Amino acid sequence: MRVAGQERQAGGTPRAALAELLSGNRRFVSGQPVHGHDVTAAAAASGDQQPYAVVLGCIDSRVPLEAIFDQTFGAICVIRTGGHVLDRAVCGSIEYVVGQLGVPLVLVLGHERCGAVGAAVDALRTGERPGGSLAHLVDEIAPAVTEVGLDDPAVHQLSIRRHVRRTVHTLREDDLLAGPVAAGRVAVVGGLYDLSTGEVALLDPA
Ligand SMILES: [Zn+2]
Repeated sequence: MRVAGQERQAGGTPRAALAELLSGNRRFVSGQPVHGHDVTAAAAASGDQQPYAVVLGCIDSRVPLEAIFDQTFGAICVIRTGGHVLDRAVCGSIEYVVGQLGVPLVLVLGHERCGAVGAAVDALRTGERPGGSLAHLVDEIAPAVTEVGLDDPAVHQLSIRRHVRRTVHTLREDDLLAGPVAAGRVAVVGGLYDLSTGEVALLDPA
């Protein structure tokens, strides 16, 4: 039996990588994953690392990225931070995966009811900036909230989308990613995960 995803290759096209990710999400949504049932040490040891995509998502415990894309070990590189906020470690990791592993696709995945975005909305509303490194998360998300406007009744939902687009934009202009993106060898795209249905929707489908 040919298992979906087995034909993926590092160095493939962004379009093929995106199609593979989205078909994995459809398997997840339909309740028929081919990989999700085999989370065992034997499965983990069964293959080399040939990732074809890197997914940057939120730490939210309801959004486990390998599961929602029905991906097996070695298939995707996953980075998760609160509200998928970027820092140098995140950007360096993506640069490594793209530059050294030949991965053609970067997907930034936001999700509905994101607590990190909610914290940024609250901080702007109250004028109370959180302490510690949490301030970094809020500071990085705040521009999206400001662009939407606190007066908008849908500020939370719209800021989630805006923040995904801002993150995509920043990555497309990254020092080491901009060239491959301009040449069409690498794509950076944004998506949104629906906590109710499990579906991933692209924010700006090609
Ligand atoms: Zn979140």
